[in-house]
Amino acid sequence: MSDLLKLLQAASFAAKKHIAQKRKGNDAAPYINHPLEVVNLLANVGKVKDYNVLIAAVLHDTIEDTETTKEEITELFGSDICEYVLEVTDDKSLPKAERKQKQIEHAPHLSQGAKLIKLSDKISNIRDVMENPPDGWSDERRLEYINWGEKVVAGLRGANKNLENHFDELISKKLFGK
Ligand code: NDP
Ligand code: ZN
Repeated sequence: MSDLLKLLQAASFAAKKHIAQKRKGNDAAPYINHPLEVVNLLANVGKVKDYNVLIAAVLHDTIEDTETTKEEITELFGSDICEYVLEVTDDKSLPKAERKQKQIEHAPHLSQGAKLIKLSDKISNIRDVMENPPDGWSDERRLEYINWGEKVVAGLRGANKNLENHFDELISKKLFGK
């Protein structure tokens, strides 16, 4: 199967896995919009051409947020892609504060491919927090999230200048128009 067909197969697989989920923003967008935005950022902003990274990006939240197993991903898409997905999957058995701290600590030690996926994931989520935040989040909580995202991204720098510039431009926009 060609790389492009495999990417489309992965997008379709992820859409089915995330079918019952919505994003937390008040537009309640279908969850699949987010992995599709992440892969689009990688390809069109980051100019990333490695299909294993692009395919892993579209699958990046399946293990963390749906009942998908690593065996399923390995069988359908291979172990290299599964490894990338696992690298960006939080251990949900840990308390949230610990998970967030681990993301900061692990960022510099991720593989190059996983760093690219993480960078695009942070761009997508921070854009959502700025433009379409989860219901009920105070300004303080939004700022805390953005500050945390910057700390994770600090450990990813050097991976892709285009994505880093895009991130820097995004966070230079004032959150509250002041
Ligand atoms: P959550 O982990 O609860 O939510 C953010 C995650 O939800 C994202 O990383 C993203 O993950 C997913 N998501 C889905 N839809 C959206 C959307 N529209 N916008 C953004 N993210 C979306 O956030 P935190 O618990 O980390 O809260 C952020 C900060 O606020 C933390 O620093 C925390 O300490 C603090 N906090 C403050 C509270 C307060 O009342 N002041 C209360 C609790 C926490 P994915 O890529 O996997 O989809
Ligand atoms: Zn994500």
